[in-house]
Amino acid sequence: MFSQTSQLHIIILQCFRLFASSPCARPFLYDILDSGGYMSEGQLLAKLRRDAQRIAKCFKLRYLDLDVEPQRVRSRFGSCDEDRRIRVRLHNLRTGRFLQYQNLVHTLCHELAHVKYLNHSNEFKMLNERILGWARAKRIYRPKC
Ligand SMILES: [Zn+2]
Repeated sequence: MFSQTSQLHIIILQCFRLFASSPCARPFLYDILDSGGYMSEGQLLAKLRRDAQRIAKCFKLRYLDLDVEPQRVRSRFGSCDEDRRIRVRLHNLRTGRFLQYQNLVHTLCHELAHVKYLNHSNEFKMLNERILGWARAKRIYRPKC
């Protein structure tokens, strides 16, 4: 039987593996990123929060908070804990620059699906796909690949 902490740890590791296995993983990991070289971190976070609210409203997802993943956390792109507190990493670890905005939104959609399902079940994956599809239709999510 896993403790809550170790279960959360496993979910975080699985999040990373899911990203790494996606066809879009390489640009995620190594892009030279410019989600707005002109934006401050505060402006970028504010934009992401606005988009998170739009998505959450449509899918009736209630999260506690959306904030920046601390830069010392290097093993994941985002997280959602059991209190429904979402964290998204804004920076490329190698360059220190902002990740591209569509990569932030991809992470955001994944973590928003965790608000409802704290696992990577089929239900989670279906919800994640629906959220991504909606965000793409609304041009919040604009992937290159
Ligand atoms: Zn995950």
